[in-house]
Amino acid sequence: MLDLAALKNLLSQPRKIVITTHHKPDGDAMGSSLGLYNYLIQQGHHANVITPTDYPDFLAWMPGNENVIIFTEHLDKSAALVAEAEIIFCLDFNALSRINELGELVRASSAVKVMIDHHLEPEDFDDYRHWDINACASAQLVYDFIVNQLQHKELVNKDVATCLYTGIMTDSASFRLPNTTPAVHRIAADLIEAGAVNWHIHELVYSNSSEGRLNFLGHCLKDKLEVLYEYNTALISVNKKELEEYDVITGDTEGIVNYALSITGIKLAAFIVERTDKVKLSLRSRGEFPANEICKKYFNGGGHRNAAGGTSTDSLDGVINQFKQILPEYKKLLIQ
Ligand code: 5GP
Ligand code: MN
Repeated sequence: MLDLAALKNLLSQPRKIVITTHHKPDGDAMGSSLGLYNYLIQQGHHANVITPTDYPDFLAWMPGNENVIIFTEHLDKSAALVAEAEIIFCLDFNALSRINELGELVRASSAVKVMIDHHLEPEDFDDYRHWDINACASAQLVYDFIVNQLQHKELVNKDVATCLYTGIMTDSASFRLPNTTPAVHRIAADLIEAGAVNWHIHELVYSNSSEGRLNFLGHCLKDKLEVLYEYNTALISVNKKELEEYDVITGDTEGIVNYALSITGIKLAAFIVERTDKVKLSLRSRGEFPANEICKKYFNGGGHRNAAGGTSTDSLDGVINQFKQILPEYKKLLIQ
């Protein structure tokens, strides 16, 4: 492990740096990564953001986005950058399996590895860790890292602020999850003062749908929503054929699970989708209900208590049945 003084010393001259984040990056993954990127390049570091996979168009506008390298599309270049890196920042994930094949390249690299994250149960692969499960977003921790640990508040410029605001806004579900503390609002205020245009960021992320995406959402809500009142649980499932029919692209399924959770009294919601090679589950819950426990125990996944995900190699129907069969185990928590 490295202490803060040693990390500061390392960062005191230009370094070759890779910033990476989790598979299918969300707003916090991209916002925290590009926020840190825009901070580092001001100091002459040679920084590159490498994402394990592609990410939705509604996130592909942040400052620095044009320089992001998608691993699956640039395998050799990514491998070379990871091998040459002196420092690798791992943002918004804490287990190397979350970055797919890129994970083994990062593990093999001799770079100093810095983890900035807010998920439970970190894997021990890092040399410096800024980790807090109470943070509403990794972008909040990147802000804290830059401002309080590295003492560089003056380097939180408009670009840094825009990215970090996006991360905090998306991971706090627009400032409405319980971890949106007064401190989070103070950081948001600082970011707006530093140049983040809050209303415009919200528009770019949430008012940026194609007509097809809304049609798909309509199909999910009208034809695919199943409410299990006995368990205060709602689920939406879609198969490969439906994804093709509606020309669903990366990001189109994002947030659909929240509609299922918005039904009065519902404590647990699931969105189950049949991808090419596996079935992916997104769970959301209210209050104390541990959605992450179900994902970890049954679906090779994890996440936060109220927002978690996992996968299965079973068939779509098999996964739906398995999910329903798990509910009696949690009935007490679900109906209280
Ligand atoms: P989503 O449902 O949006 O894909 O993911 C919700 C949350 O669960 C995110 O915080 C994400 O990091 C986490 N998550 C999603 N899929 C997985 C997974 O396969 N493994 C783990 N450990 N976490 C996941
Ligand atoms: Mn996050």
